[in-house]
Amino acid sequence: MKAFNILMLFILCASVQALELNGPLQQGGMVIGKVSPGSQVRLDDEILMVSEEGTFVLGFDRDAAVTSTLTVTSPDGKATEQVLQIQPREYRIQRVNGIAQSIMNPTQEDLKRIRKDSAEVRGARAKRLGRMDFAGEFQWPLVGPITGVYGSQRVYNGKPSRPHYGVDVAAPTGTPLTTPAPGVVTLAHPDMFYSGGTLIIDHGHGVSSTLMHLSKVLVKVGDEVTPGDIVAEVGASGRATGPHLDWRMNWRNTRIDPQLLVPPMPSHKAEAAKGDGL
Ligand SMILES: [Zn+2]
Repeated sequence: MKAFNILMLFILCASVQALELNGPLQQGGMVIGKVSPGSQVRLDDEILMVSEEGTFVLGFDRDAAVTSTLTVTSPDGKATEQVLQIQPREYRIQRVNGIAQSIMNPTQEDLKRIRKDSAEVRGARAKRLGRMDFAGEFQWPLVGPITGVYGSQRVYNGKPSRPHYGVDVAAPTGTPLTTPAPGVVTLAHPDMFYSGGTLIIDHGHGVSSTLMHLSKVLVKVGDEVTPGDIVAEVGASGRATGPHLDWRMNWRNTRIDPQLLVPPMPSHKAEAAKGDGL
């Protein structure tokens, strides 16, 4: 945190106009920025949404490059470039040798469903709502043992599988889940092929939470949710080997690490429930 403060100070001094960045400049991190109202902000090639007060948000992927360029154009047309140093992370890599990855071959019917599911998810995440919930606090939707973390990956006989982008929390089927932050429901699906019961809550400016493998979805598209609201129940629907919540966070199409947004998991009774890391 010290190093980050120093970096922030550096940014403030180095640029002519006020630029404030708050959050971890690291892979998987979400950063909230502030510029003078009326400014335009670009991260590399992407034009960002800027609120009337000058607030914006950006995020870095699991494998984000070590530098990114932020360009701020003030209302008078003057552009300032700021090169951001993105701290790389080490991920939990599990090597599995001698055992073939259990391959699931989806049928033609399954493939149709998978394509429909991903189009719906893409549509939900494509919204760019002006709401500012992303700038507030996030909280764990569920308290329990963490059984899977962001960025982890299994390598089967030298072949890397798709990395895991969510944080998994194990709990028995039926355990209530609360919204991680205020927002509006943009997708409420009872049973997608891979992710089962799936809920997407939009927190504004392209920041969204996805809750997966739900046994029950208790809200519908368009519902406004606030912290404390029970929005769904834990399950093992879709492709899951045991009941658990898989909570994912997106900034636009960039997958960010939910665990960087919340305080450490509160202490809890160890549950006997099995949840798979993937
Ligand atoms: Zn998972």
